Amino acid sequence: MLFKDIIGHKDIKEKLINSVKNNRISHAQLFLGKGGTGKLSLAIAYAQYVSCINKTEDDSCGTCKSCRKYNKLIHPDLHFVYPVVRTKKFKKPVSSDFLPEWRSFVIKDKFHSYNDWIDGIGTDKLQGSIYAQESQEIIKKLTLKTFEAEYKIMIIWMAEKMNVSASNKLLKMIEEPPQKTLFILVVENEEQIITTIRSRIQLIKINRLSEKDISDELEKIFPTAEGELIKDSARIADGSFSVAKKNIEQVLDPTFIDANTKNFELFTNLMRIAYGANVLRMVSWVDEICKFGREQEKSFFQYALRLIRENFILNITPENKDEITFLSDKEYQFSKNFNRFINKNNITNLYEEFGKAQADIERNAYDKIVFLDLALKIAQLLRK
Ligand SMILES: [Zn+2]
Repeated sequence: MLFKDIIGHKDIKEKLINSVKNNRISHAQLFLGKGGTGKLSLAIAYAQYVSCINKTEDDSCGTCKSCRKYNKLIHPDLHFVYPVVRTKKFKKPVSSDFLPEWRSFVIKDKFHSYNDWIDGIGTDKLQGSIYAQESQEIIKKLTLKTFEAEYKIMIIWMAEKMNVSASNKLLKMIEEPPQKTLFILVVENEEQIITTIRSRIQLIKINRLSEKDISDELEKIFPTAEGELIKDSARIADGSFSVAKKNIEQVLDPTFIDANTKNFELFTNLMRIAYGANVLRMVSWVDEICKFGREQEKSFFQYALRLIRENFILNITPENKDEITFLSDKEYQFSKNFNRFINKNNITNLYEEFGKAQADIERNAYDKIVFLDLALKIAQLLRK
C-alpha cells in the first residue's frame, strides 16, 4: 500500500513520513478515526514505508524486496491481529486461522468495513472478537527475531474488539516492548479501549475525508454515475468513503430496495403521523416498517438520527444551511419546513427515545411494540 494511492489525509501522511525520516518512530501508536476513512490502509502504508529499503522523500518505492512482499501482505515481519468469529472449524479462533481471507479482504478495497469483514468470514449474524487466546499468538510472533526488516510491526485492527484479558496482556507488551517492535492499533471507538492502554500510546487522529476527496474518488470508480448523485452521496457520507460508495451502489442497483429512499419515506411519514397524533395511522406505520425486517429497521435508526440532528442544526443556525448540513436535495426540501419542530426543548429526549428503541431492536425485542412506543413518544415530544 503506497501513501499516494490513499485519498486525503495530507497532514497525517506528512507527519508519519517525517517520523520515519527523523527517526522518531513511537513504538505504540493508536490510529483513531471513524469507519470508512482509510485508517487501516494508512497504517499499512506507514508500516510499508518504515520497512521499505529504497524509500523516497514521500513514499515507499513499491518495488524493492520489502515492498513486493508488502504488496501481497506476506512480509514475515508484518503481523496482523483482527476480530474473528467462532466457527465449526475454529472453536478457539485466532487471527491467523483467517489469514487468506484477511489478505484478500485488505487488498480488494482501500476502505475496510468491520461489518463486511465479519459477514464475509462468519455465517448468520456472529459477533466478532479478538479472543483471549490471541495474546499467546501475539507474544509468540513478537518474541521471534526479525526476519528481514529492522522492525517487527504488529497492526491490530479494530483493537476495541479485544477482550479484557487480551488487552491486559497487550498492555504488558506495550509497557515492556521487545526490541524494535512497532504496535499500531487501528480503532473506531476510543472509549472502548481500556484507559491504561490509551494512556501509554501515541494518538494519531484520522480525520473525516473532505467532500471533495470523496467525490473525486467516486468519479473514478463510478464514471457513468450522474454528478448530482455523486455530490449527494459525498455530502451525506459525513466523511466516510464507505458510506458514500454504498449509497451509490444501492442507487445504481436496480434490484435493491433503495434503503435511503425507503428510510426517507418512513421517517417523513412517521413525523407527520406522530404530529397528527393519530394512533390508528401509527399502527399502520408500524406494520409498514416491520415488514422490511431487522436490517432495514436498524438502518432506519441511523437515518432518523441523522435527519433529526441535521434538522436541529438547521433550526438553531438557519444561516449556515449550506455549510453545516449533510442533506440531500429531497431531504432539504422536507427539512426546510420540518426543522422548526426539532428544537432545544425536545432534541435531547428525541435522541434518547430513538437511542432506546435502537438498542431494543439490536437486542431483538418485539419490534411492533418498540416502534409503536416510539411513535407515541415522538407524538408528545414534537409538541414541546
Ligand atoms: Zn520499497
